[in-house]
Amino acid sequence: MKAGMTRRSFTMMALGSGVMMAMGTRMRFRSSNAFEWVSLRDGAAFATGNHTTGGNVLAMGSGAEALMIDAKFAGVVAMLRAEAEERVGTRITTLVNTHHHADHTGGNVGLSADANMIAHAAAMTRVARQADRLVSQFNNAETEMRRLGGGSVPEDVIACLSQLKSRAEQMGAGAFVPQKSIDRYPTTLRVGERRVDLHHFGPGHTDNDVVVHLPEINVVHAGDLVFSGRHPFFDPTGGCSAAGWVRSLRQVRQLCDAQTIVVPGHGPIGAADAVDQQIAYIESLIESVGRAIGEGRSKQEVSGMSWDFMQGLGGEQVRSRAIEAVFDELSR
Ligand SMILES: [Zn+2]
Repeated sequence: MKAGMTRRSFTMMALGSGVMMAMGTRMRFRSSNAFEWVSLRDGAAFATGNHTTGGNVLAMGSGAEALMIDAKFAGVVAMLRAEAEERVGTRITTLVNTHHHADHTGGNVGLSADANMIAHAAAMTRVARQADRLVSQFNNAETEMRRLGGGSVPEDVIACLSQLKSRAEQMGAGAFVPQKSIDRYPTTLRVGERRVDLHHFGPGHTDNDVVVHLPEINVVHAGDLVFSGRHPFFDPTGGCSAAGWVRSLRQVRQLCDAQTIVVPGHGPIGAADAVDQQIAYIESLIESVGRAIGEGRSKQEVSGMSWDFMQGLGGEQVRSRAIEAVFDELSR
């Protein structure tokens, strides 16, 4: 579209200097690890384990290109991108969103001017519809960055943050929605010399889950199909399905062997047993809620119940939400 041309040239101008500033901070970020990056396969890729800043991110460079998977919240992306590029040694050229949720797509604003952004076709309108919420992620962002950076965030990163905020306020949804939607799976991309396989196995955590498989380094980013050590987040308005979630996870498991590194959407980076544990949790949830329904219990009553498989997990505030979603799904 013609407006797109205008918009693109405007944003390249508006953000260009911001990106340069972010790149210019590499030297100063050399020892920074605000996002708790973990090196995978001796530095072939890097992933974050920090939960409070949004979903886990993976960054992988190859030649002059680099992939980033998910982008956390808008308010942290200036620092996130600077740290990711410092680690992979080149500019991020491709961003893949694992699904539309705001803790994975808010940071899209920091890449939309100069990177190819890709998501499932069903994510497009969902990201656009939550644009106001994504823009509001800039509230208190400077305080959050200073906290993450241990009080020592370079002023040019703060300036980049302020440019991204203006960009988000001016463009709204256009600053966040990926340019490229994919509705046929599996799809293979190339990032430099690396192969990147994108999979979608039907509705699970949402109706637009994308699992990213990096076969050459045996790494899978499972998105929020896997919450490791935490209760999974159920979002009926996002098209979740407990039955579909289990089906999707069984397919994810097929991508894994004993050496596979699994990056969950939330929780520590691990291995295929994280997928097994998530399958066990959701199967147990379906079975337990189904049994309670069979006993004639009300939704309110079941919502307050807990079972052994739920013990010792983080994210307690979303536990009853999971029960209620499965209650509704089984009652339909
Ligand atoms: Zn999610």
